[in-house]
Amino acid sequence: MSTTTSAPQSTLVWSDWRSQIQHRITTLEGLRQWVNLTPEEEAAVAACADRYQLSITPYYASLMDRDDPNCPVRLQSMPALQELVVFPNSDNDPVGDTIYRKTNRVVHKYPDRVIILVTDLCPVYCRHCTRKYHTSDTEGTYFGDAASAGWDADFAYIESHPEIRDVLLTGGDPLYLSDTRLERIISRLRQIPHVEIVRIGSRCPVFLPQRITPELCAMLEKYHPIWLNTHFNHPKEITPEAAAACDRLLRHGIPVQNQTVLLKGINDSVETMRALLTGLLKIRVRPYYLYHCDNVVGVSHFMTTIEKGQEIMRGLIGFMTGFAVPQYVLTTPLGKIPLWEPQYSPEDGGSVVNYRGERMSLKDFLPPSTIEGNQP
Ligand SMILES: *Cc1c(COP(=O)(O)O)cnc(C)c1O
Ligand code: SF4
Repeated sequence: MSTTTSAPQSTLVWSDWRSQIQHRITTLEGLRQWVNLTPEEEAAVAACADRYQLSITPYYASLMDRDDPNCPVRLQSMPALQELVVFPNSDNDPVGDTIYRKTNRVVHKYPDRVIILVTDLCPVYCRHCTRKYHTSDTEGTYFGDAASAGWDADFAYIESHPEIRDVLLTGGDPLYLSDTRLERIISRLRQIPHVEIVRIGSRCPVFLPQRITPELCAMLEKYHPIWLNTHFNHPKEITPEAAAACDRLLRHGIPVQNQTVLLKGINDSVETMRALLTGLLKIRVRPYYLYHCDNVVGVSHFMTTIEKGQEIMRGLIGFMTGFAVPQYVLTTPLGKIPLWEPQYSPEDGGSVVNYRGERMSLKDFLPPSTIEGNQP
């Protein structure tokens, strides 16, 4: 934010991402300019104020329905009283990032790849954030006292582990950092010969598409291969501005993939999910994961059942373009667990079920030895 020179009272310049951040909505009064709040929402804003940060960019606020409290954009960004209800087994870190944390910023959970928590800031704080403790809990962050600590230990860890070939920048939202700071991180990673690909996880295409400037794209392009994963949850978020932001990334050779979180009351229906996924294909964004919502303190009320998620998957597979269908997974301390498996039962004589629920035996279809697993 160091180059922001305008006064706080300056007028909002819609196309300028720094101006959008400067004018982000953080108060009841700010929210009232965009929506007619219900008494419950008013109470929730007050009740959550001590606990979780509130921030909504004017751009994202402009997508909110003024009168419908069940608007999917509102539900993702406005405080709710259920955030203060503690559900069974909920945890600040149910996925175990802290178990696998090797340095202040580096989490090494899978054999060949790491994530780096480059910031704890986001332009909008998702009420369903998996790292809610890190990003918007007013008392917590994984950085602890080390928020401003140097990066040498983080880079040294990656340098000394040649098995790491994939580095994923996450946070918080890495694109909250200036181009200069981002470039310092990425260029340093590029000096490590075994780091083959760099990935960025950012919700800016959804919250702050103005952030995807030609200058940012030109900078990133110098460090290919760069991949970007974003996080659209509802078809309403696929606006012309968001589409243009993704288009800019794609034209600079940065593949854009999407990770959706399955959220109760927001996208937990076959109809909404189909509209989201086909909408993403129209803007050339490839669906990657459908995450079962994590049992994070303050987030659990967004969880639906695994059965519901599987029902949605059954409504997608076979009925739409193969690569429109994401992998439905649950993140655990043991890793991401697929919740949708091919419908094949070897014990049942190699029986399979297709997407319409039609069953057949593979016995008359494949060489029996390839079914029973007794090949020489
Ligand atoms: C999800 C995740 C990754 C990346 O996993 P992919 O399946 O390769 O996308 C890496 N590290 C951690 C800690 C993760 O949670
Ligand atoms: S953008 Fe990502 S890190 Fe930031 S609040 Fe949302 S889910 Fe959390």
